[in-house]
Amino acid sequence: MNSPNKFRNEKEEMISLFRSRGIKDESVLSVMKKIERQLFVDEAFVPRSYEDCALPISNSQTISQPYTVAVMTELLQIKKGDKILEIGTGSGYQAAILAELGARVFTIERFSDLLTKARLVFAKLGYNIASKTGDGTIGWSEFAPFDGIIVTAAAPEIPEPLLKQLANSGKLIIPVGDLNSQNIIIVTNDNGEFVEKKIEGFKFVPLVGKLGWK
Ligand code: SAM
Repeated sequence: MNSPNKFRNEKEEMISLFRSRGIKDESVLSVMKKIERQLFVDEAFVPRSYEDCALPISNSQTISQPYTVAVMTELLQIKKGDKILEIGTGSGYQAAILAELGARVFTIERFSDLLTKARLVFAKLGYNIASKTGDGTIGWSEFAPFDGIIVTAAAPEIPEPLLKQLANSGKLIIPVGDLNSQNIIIVTNDNGEFVEKKIEGFKFVPLVGKLGWK
């Protein structure tokens, strides 16, 4: 079922699509070609694992669209050993990509049963990823500062604690907007000054928590 070659053509097509849409970082492309997305999707959706769309997982949540994952991962500009916090573990797919790129990954998910499933996949694949159930809008201060923080759900505004937990030169990648559409905001900590850029036109499930949607 999950033999590495089973989806070879679909993976090639996915990587070609990324290249055609402007993803240039070869390490991101090679890791996303390597990781078996079918291990992170529900059984019924395995045949659709490499379609460029979000797919449903439990608790009315989604595994993000592959292209969106590629964009956000490239924006993080990960170097081996970087400490990266992910808010919104979901299926664990994004966290696995970060780990495969050599990051030390910390991930938070609000639904414990999603996290339980993701942890099983991490264990199966041998990833050493720190994870907890909780409200990621307040970050994970015990392990701060982080070289990068990636939020995989849509926030109404940038939660202040995440800025405080960003290392110097670190980047926060977060979708911000209303419930129907968001821009991905890239915030860089430049010696305590937070410099923002944005990429328009994305759609994520809501970030629900103390400093997110209620
Ligand atoms: N990174 C995930 C993946 O690779 O499958 C994407 C998951 S989905 C698009 C976003 C996730 O954020 C959902 O699983 C949702 O439960 C979670 N989430 C929403 N608000 C959260 C919060 N305040 N803290 C932690 N997780 C949250």
